[in-house]
Amino acid sequence: MDYETKVLPFDRESVAEAAELLANRRIVAIPTETVYGLAANALDDWGVKNIFRVKGRPQDNPLIVHIASMKMLPPLVREIPEIANQLAERFWGGPLTMIFPKSDLISDTVSGGLDTVAIRMPESEAALAIIKKCGFPLAAPSANLSGKPSPTTAMHVYEDLNGKIPLIIDGGECSVGVESTVICFKDGKIRILRPGGITAEMLSKFAEVEVDRAVTVQPAKDERVLSPGMKYKHYSPKADVYIINAHGARFTDYCAKRARFEQNLVALGAGVPEEGCFMDYGATPEIQARRLFSLLRKADEIGAKTVLVEIPEKSGVGLAVYNRLLRAAAFRIVEV
Ligand code: AMP
Ligand code: MG
Repeated sequence: MDYETKVLPFDRESVAEAAELLANRRIVAIPTETVYGLAANALDDWGVKNIFRVKGRPQDNPLIVHIASMKMLPPLVREIPEIANQLAERFWGGPLTMIFPKSDLISDTVSGGLDTVAIRMPESEAALAIIKKCGFPLAAPSANLSGKPSPTTAMHVYEDLNGKIPLIIDGGECSVGVESTVICFKDGKIRILRPGGITAEMLSKFAEVEVDRAVTVQPAKDERVLSPGMKYKHYSPKADVYIINAHGARFTDYCAKRARFEQNLVALGAGVPEEGCFMDYGATPEIQARRLFSLLRKADEIGAKTVLVEIPEKSGVGLAVYNRLLRAAAFRIVEV
């Protein structure tokens, strides 16, 4: 390890310190409402390349560019469809990322070689304050090592990146807990490439919504997917994760039976009492989204070998929870 990473609470001074580091081409972990982000000046390839290096992120997995006002959008894109304006008005700042044709300001490093760029305006007061103080947009993927569960607290970031980045701004626990909804526009329709806090149901008030196949179906090895991130194994603890397609007593009986014969087994149930092998990952999709990554990290901490997770609802924010779990579980679903 080269040095100790500084962790500072979000306030005026820490925002100024983060902005100064970012202006000097360093990378800084910042809180957002979705998950913690690992930020660099989106217009400076040197900083952006550092993000890929520090995370160990595949080069063809593009980054989301974060802005703090609508004024920052036009220079980054070639075109803004009318529906994007309507969605921005309703859902920005918030967990919605929209794909636009990119302008020349956006490098191939940021776009992963695509001709498009993903843009989001966060809601988090800390994220907005840092972007405003910088005056330039921030490219920021989740602030975890590639493949690991995304960080929802400053401590998670510290576990993964201590000694690799100069500063983490601590803004407390993320309120949404899963990454933003990523959408693109095609033939007047909204296509969800990655589900998140802004749901299909919410978007359907504005246009017809299609959910991309890769959200719930494992892409074939060489399949070209619209959202490159969907190709990779993701969000994985060291333990083997399995989704259990059962609810209530059928779920708890199955897990309790296995726990009698298997050591280091953890079961994440929706609203279950926390006893024996059971941990509660929340009775509603919103709570599940907030707790999921944290619990997957906790499973590692306590040395779990196997994690069994009650299948979530596939509607609302539940679709985002299901999508992340499928990747964490390498698409293993156990029928009970
Ligand atoms: P992360 O920064 O880890 O939340 O990942 C961002 C994800 O957004 C990527 O993995 C992609 O799946 C998606 N994304 C970013 N840029 C684009 C783009 N230009 N086209 C399609 N998907 C994108
Ligand atoms: Mg990520």
